[in-house]
Amino acid sequence: MLSAVTDPRVPLRPAIAGLPAYVPGARVQVGAAAFKLSSNENPYPPLPSVVAAIVDGASDVNRYPDMHASELTAAVAASLGLEASSVVVGCGSVAVLGHVLTAVCGEGDDVVIPWRSFEAYPIAVALTGAAATRVPLAVDGRLDLVAMAAAIGPRTRAVLVCTPNNPTGPAVRAAELATFLAAVPPHVLVVLDEAYVEFVRDPEAPDALGLLAEFANVVVLRTFSKAYGLAGLRVGYALAEPGLAQGIRAATTPFSVSHLAQVAALASLAARGELLDRVDAIVAERVRMLAALRAQGWTVPDSQANFVWLPLGDHADAFAAAATRAGVLVRPFAGDGVRVSVGEPEANDLALEVAHDWLTSGR
Ligand code: PMP
Repeated sequence: MLSAVTDPRVPLRPAIAGLPAYVPGARVQVGAAAFKLSSNENPYPPLPSVVAAIVDGASDVNRYPDMHASELTAAVAASLGLEASSVVVGCGSVAVLGHVLTAVCGEGDDVVIPWRSFEAYPIAVALTGAAATRVPLAVDGRLDLVAMAAAIGPRTRAVLVCTPNNPTGPAVRAAELATFLAAVPPHVLVVLDEAYVEFVRDPEAPDALGLLAEFANVVVLRTFSKAYGLAGLRVGYALAEPGLAQGIRAATTPFSVSHLAQVAALASLAARGELLDRVDAIVAERVRMLAALRAQGWTVPDSQANFVWLPLGDHADAFAAAATRAGVLVRPFAGDGVRVSVGEPEANDLALEVAHDWLTSGR
């Protein structure tokens, strides 16, 4: 029998008790006439071939999935010209990031992150027990790789490089990344988070796969959530040299990638050409939005992803509220700015209208 306790609450680890909550983009209410441009999702529904693969796979869900997603891992590797031993598939790249960090750091360690960047970073770092050193972005929404290299200290185990950077948009350049990698000690892991890589058109952007071959301390994160439109199924992956990949695999939860996620990702890879045509259409809309915003008088950083950034400072929440009233959900970051995902053309038009009205109403 349990003895009586004076305080029945189980104490949480201090790192967990102090965590900020991850705030997702608002969900559209069923029946509401709203466009959702708040979560960097792909506006296109899954292809019929992908839906068919999911429906087909549904009859097998009484069985556990392939634990290591071997067929999908092999297909991802083949699509990139890599060995399967360099690919680790997980349930979303945010989960894979957690496994990567678990594999290399813990209590007393330090991880250098850019800020502002992907909101999950400080949380993922804190979960390992490590501390995050935040390095401010340069004024144009770019990562400051010089300052990030300078922030590496004796306890640093990893550096997160978000390229393109969520939520501001620019990608790092190959030349500055080469200088950065030359300055990082070889025992410090460099995570290149390329969740939006398929949307990158900047000719100066780095070739991450080439860097993988050159640097044993580089790991690349990619996802099926954005370009491939499978955010709801949760599939992402890490690319790394085989020894590091094995360490990341060892840190994963068994059977974490569902059977339906695996078959949908495989069907998406099989229809890659068609899906990448959609990516081209989204990129064309991004180019149109950036040009229209600048013509309206906004100062917006370059975007190489499927979103644009409005540096609204203290007006971020008010702008987002105005957008919601107009029927489009966008993502405010209080005191900093608003991220608008690139969606269907009508949704983008509406967002541009809100941006235009905001400036002309004198705010
Ligand atoms: N990295 C970045 C930079 C992101 O913006 C996101 C999604 N918002 C992710 C990773 C996570 O993507 P997922 O877990 O859906 O693969």
